[in-house]
Amino acid sequence: MQCVVNRRAQFLASHHYSLPELGETENLEKFGRSSKFPGQGHNYTLFISIAGELDKYGMVLNLSDVKQVIKREITDQLDFSYLNNVWPEFQQTLSSNENIARVIWQRLAPHLPLIRVQLVEHTGLWADYMGEGMQASLSISTHFSAAHRLASNLSSEKYSKCSRTHGHNYHLEVTVEGEMDSRTGMIIDLDALNRVVENDVVKIFDHFCVNKDIPHFSEIVPTTENLVLYISNLLKSPIQKLGAKLSQVKLFESPQLWVDYQGNGTETFLTVKSEFSSAHRLAHPGLSLEKNTEIYGKCARVNGHGHNYQLEVTVKGEIDSSTGMVVDLGALNQVIANLTEPLDHSFLNRDVPYFGEVVPTAENIALYISNMLRLPIQELGAELYKVKLVESPNNSCEIYPSDIESTSVITVQNQPVLATV
Ligand SMILES: [Zn+2]
Ligand SMILES: [Zn+2]
Repeated sequence: MQCVVNRRAQFLASHHYSLPELGETENLEKFGRSSKFPGQGHNYTLFISIAGELDKYGMVLNLSDVKQVIKREITDQLDFSYLNNVWPEFQQTLSSNENIARVIWQRLAPHLPLIRVQLVEHTGLWADYMGEGMQASLSISTHFSAAHRLASNLSSEKYSKCSRTHGHNYHLEVTVEGEMDSRTGMIIDLDALNRVVENDVVKIFDHFCVNKDIPHFSEIVPTTENLVLYISNLLKSPIQKLGAKLSQVKLFESPQLWVDYQGNGTETFLTVKSEFSSAHRLAHPGLSLEKNTEIYGKCARVNGHGHNYQLEVTVKGEIDSSTGMVVDLGALNQVIANLTEPLDHSFLNRDVPYFGEVVPTAENIALYISNMLRLPIQELGAELYKVKLVESPNNSCEIYPSDIESTSVITVQNQPVLATV
């Protein structure tokens, strides 16, 4: 059973963009203020994603080993460094966000089963690299405030309070992909991308009423799903003109609800985020305290510890043309609440029978949740696409249930992932 584990790391570094083959004026023209010596610094945040089968201890890899590898190979070398000089790779290709992510991938790949390296320069800019030559993606974020009301011609009861005019601070993330330039390391002119998003989207929505001020939505219900589709259509061709491809638009109606669109017909991905607080202890009942401590470290302490788990449940589906939604949101929230209620304010190992046998690592908890949600979500007419469980800012894991071959709740309950030790 494949599981994706994300591990966060951080480093501080400075850099500046300039190519020796260009003169000072040309460098300034190409890179703006970033070309000025000695450059600027960032608090970089790195998310390393690995994937693999869960082992008998309920982990893809021992997290403290993963942490050590990232520290030794990457952050110990880059922290408090001047990137232009620290690694020879950055003399060939500048230390753009995209290229730093690519070089980190190359250096970690011999040690970890990587599937993604994400490098965040700041909350409004990050790059993703997935091991494909010079191909990378870059995301920017912005926001706008707008009013709307949800009411189709058919019925406004369906939308309860949302049928009244109200508003949101929408948070928008735009992801583009393309080939990095072999010298600049960049896939797109970032200033030009920011201008497109600002002019073609933010200016149209910000401080307007979507239903009344945007003609498209006089007939179409402005659900987050329909908004994201419309925004994607606005951005597609201007981004193509900048030499990159729009690969994803993500629109947050609130920090607890967002929709992703990847340009595939009317297929969208709706995510709802919730939280539960639980205690747990990582220890296999068949092993000694000494052995458990060797495997799980502090997490094996006998009386347990706890987390505020953040749960992100993503469903995939076509937008229903009459409601504008992929799934009945109220019903989805209810299904999730039914599952998390018994987990909230519990000691998982003792209070949830499943975790009496199975070590409640984040991976095993996410797998349990995924298996419990799959059928009820199917009954709502949507497909459970992803379960992401964030255990702490440093650790999270993801399960993609469609990867699981016909695993049902019953089989998982009968066959704990943690096999005999
Ligand atoms: Zn609303
Ligand atoms: Zn823990």
